[in-house]
Amino acid sequence: MLLWHQRKLQMPFLSLNLSEPIKKALDKSGFIKPTAIQEKVIPLVLSKHDALARAQTGSGKSASFVLPILELWSQNIPEGKSKIKALVLTPTRELTLQVAQTFKTFGEFLPKQPKVVSLIGGERIGDQLYDIQQGCDVVIATSGRLIDILNKKQVNLSKLEFFVLDEADKMLDLGFAEELDIILEALPKKRQNLLFSATYPPKMQEIASR
Ligand code: AMP
Repeated sequence: MLLWHQRKLQMPFLSLNLSEPIKKALDKSGFIKPTAIQEKVIPLVLSKHDALARAQTGSGKSASFVLPILELWSQNIPEGKSKIKALVLTPTRELTLQVAQTFKTFGEFLPKQPKVVSLIGGERIGDQLYDIQQGCDVVIATSGRLIDILNKKQVNLSKLEFFVLDEADKMLDLGFAEELDIILEALPKKRQNLLFSATYPPKMQEIASR
């Protein structure tokens, strides 16, 4: 078995300008080579661009936004209580929990680990509000529960820098356009937007343009 310091010389993830703690987590997860979407999206996000990607489940899309968001976040970790810097909207509670776990996995070796809160239906809203109010860096949510929480006016998204729509085409049927309007109202105008969708029907193009 190769030692970590020998193996890192072989890692094509090296070319993607990720810091040592993140590369260490990649190594621990057995990620050697970036997938096609990771190769394209990671540099775009690191250079502070928006991204619109056609991505299927299984393409490695989660890491394509989680890794650069963690990288940029860790370069400028705020002093004191955590403020929400990244919001990821997903269509299902399963995907919410999976993305939250991806942030935790790749944030493991950072000098400060990000506090990640999942907002999903079927769980006590009071507990989720409490977690947010303790201070968190990353929120992963389904839109319905996020709107319930926004309506309580107890979440501050004014410091947000990254807004991700994951598997956006799966959200189209759920009255999502109206919900998106409410959510966008709560976000700062200046932010990075990342949109992942397996298909781009006209309705999705309209969402992307917003
Ligand atoms: P996703 O499309 O993000 O749901 O990822 C699908 C699966 O591929 C997940 O189990 C990931 O952990 C895995 N995966 C993503 N990127 C890589 C990579 N570069 N190398 C190995 N496995 C990966």
